[in-house]
Amino acid sequence: MDLKKVVRNIKYNEPMSKHTTFRVGGPADIFAEPEAHELLDLIRYLNESGQPYTVIGNGSNLLVGDKGIRGVVVALKDGIGDIDVEEDCEIYAGAGALLSRVASEAAACGLTGLEFASGIPGSVGGAIAMNAGAYDGEMKDVVSYVNAIHDNEFVKYGCNEMDFSYRHSRILDSGDIVVGVCIKLAFGDMGTIRAKMSELNQRRADKQPINLPSAGSTFKRPEGYFAGKLIQDAGLRGYRVGGACVSEKHCGFVVNDQNATAAEIKQLIEDVQNKVFEDAGVRLETEVRMIGEF
Ligand SMILES: Cc1cc2nc3c(=O)[nH]c(=O)nc-3n(C[C@H](O)[C@H](O)[C@H](O)COP(=O)(O)OP(=O)(O)OC[C@H]3O[C@@H](n4cnc5c(N)ncnc54)[C@H](O)[C@@H]3O)c2cc1C
Repeated sequence: MDLKKVVRNIKYNEPMSKHTTFRVGGPADIFAEPEAHELLDLIRYLNESGQPYTVIGNGSNLLVGDKGIRGVVVALKDGIGDIDVEEDCEIYAGAGALLSRVASEAAACGLTGLEFASGIPGSVGGAIAMNAGAYDGEMKDVVSYVNAIHDNEFVKYGCNEMDFSYRHSRILDSGDIVVGVCIKLAFGDMGTIRAKMSELNQRRADKQPINLPSAGSTFKRPEGYFAGKLIQDAGLRGYRVGGACVSEKHCGFVVNDQNATAAEIKQLIEDVQNKVFEDAGVRLETEVRMIGEF
């Protein structure tokens, strides 16, 4: 069977720089953006035909290599991004919905609990995979259940089956595909919810280089330390490799401020890891996920 018979929206040799917030990454051989009703057939087709594939959301936690991605990139975006407000303070969102949209929808309905997520620029699927979090909130605090594809079938996981931990969920280990999530919130005051969101977004804008291409915090927070502080103490504020540098505003962010290549960003990350290890004896692990060929 032809892939085009399974999913309508397909592009060939699609530059991944168009689909990542780092704005780097070479071409995906095939870039498929399925609608909700096409997704299961697409995954079955890819598994049964043995074609390699990579699932992405909004590309806000990815560093894609300059030589791109072989096989098929399955991008879950608007076509699988419906948001439904349900009874009992629950919201069901398709994996492709932007988390910030779900947070706005919650606020508009006077539902509290998702304020922490309003400035995280990922999709719901990516947020579940990564257990995204900020300002003392994490996805694991609000998930009721997750619908996913496992072994070519739809499955449903309760929150306690998701193996959530710091920037990790079972999805990263199993290769399951998140299809949608039910989020459980509580009634609150709309004005208070909106004020909290504005306050958190202002704190983000004050402290983070959100106007420059990046993938957010480059490194996970090492137990007992802050990555940004370790990097700053190692004298790496503003440290540069080609078009990439350690942000002057927040050392925990690597930014692409001068048309960097992925290779330059990767080199910068490795340099930072080595220097911090020499300086403080701490091995920084990347939160950003590197995929494709470098
Ligand atoms: C300016 C900026 C600020 C940020 N601030 C934060 C923050 O405060 N907190 C935080 O946690 N993160 C933050 N991030 C990082 C990023 O937004 C989150 O990790 C987000 O959850 C990633 O979602 P995404 O849809 O972009 O996923 P992608 O980057 O597309 O993918 C990330 C991982 O999830 C997997 N994935 C994506 N969708 C699915 C799916 N449907 N099914 C299975 N696997 C999937 C991918 O395979 C990949 O392994 C920030 C990023 C930027 C650029």
